[in-house]
Amino acid sequence: MIATIDHDTCTGCEECVISCPDVFELNLTTYLADVKLPEIPGDMEADVSAAATACPVGAIAVS
Ligand code: SF4
Repeated sequence: MIATIDHDTCTGCEECVISCPDVFELNLTTYLADVKLPEIPGDMEADVSAAATACPVGAIAVS
């Protein structure tokens, strides 16, 4: 699984950073979320999918 964040949509609310700190981080230059891992490990996929669903602005895409 790959996760991407639309930085034109992300508000930097940090919900994904709080729920999946091993995968998402707040960029302290842009104050938007970044994906830390190029490929999401299998045991994290459910949490990342949940974070994508929970993103209040739908900025996280998974494929
Ligand atoms: S939950 Fe969505 S809006 Fe909030 S920081 Fe993460 S990607 Fe950005």
